[in-house]
This record gives sequence, C-alpha cells and structure tokens, in this order.
Amino acid sequence: MVEKSQLEFPMDWGKCPYCGEERCVAETVRLEEEAKGKINPGSKSAMVQALVAITDVLAPHIRTVPTLIGYIDACVKCGAARFIHIDRRDTLMGVEMPNPTQPQPGVPQGVPPFFGKG
Ligand SMILES: [Zn+2]
Repeated sequence: MVEKSQLEFPMDWGKCPYCGEERCVAETVRLEEEAKGKINPGSKSAMVQALVAITDVLAPHIRTVPTLIGYIDACVKCGAARFIHIDRRDTLMGVEMPNPTQPQPGVPQGVPPFFGKG
C-alpha cells in the first residue's frame, strides 16, 4: 500500500527539455519490438533503471519503506539523458528485530558472525 504523499505517482515526462523531441532510444526500440509481437505490450524500457529505498539507517526496524524506481532514457535527437518516468512502491523490508530478552532457539549466544576470507 502506498501512503499519502504530496507528490503524485507515477510521474511521467514527455518532451526532451533540451530539444523538444518526445522519443527516447530504449523506449522506441521496445515499441518496435512490441509492434513485431516479440514482447508483450504495457511494459516500459529505459537505458537505466534506478531503484532507491528511502530508509533511515538509525531506525532499521521500520518495516515498510517508500521505494522509488526511476527510468532514465536517451533522447533520440540530441542524446540527452533524462528521467522519463518515476514510480513509487512502498516495500516491506525483511528486517525482523530479535527480542533481546529471549535467546533465539538454535542460535549460539555470544558468537560473532563469521566474516573470514575463504
Ligand atoms: Zn533532446
């Protein structure tokens, strides 16, 4: 579930801010492949997909964090890299804090984690 935000997601940008061209390289190739029936419609392509989870390292026990995925593509006319799409998903993180008052069954106490080399 996505919590309320001041921002509206997904965010989409059409034209290149530098030259006004709408088409991008990866998305154009994807549309060509979609037209040939080689890939399913409705997906999205980009030269770079960036994923970032908005976390607080001081509060690692927070279970659900906002996660942003951004698509960066290259303008077919001027080559400028630009964000074309950003979406938000709230991701459930698999961090479970152990209860410090109760030893975990089967886990030796006082044994440091093994970080040895080879
Ligand atoms: Zn451009």
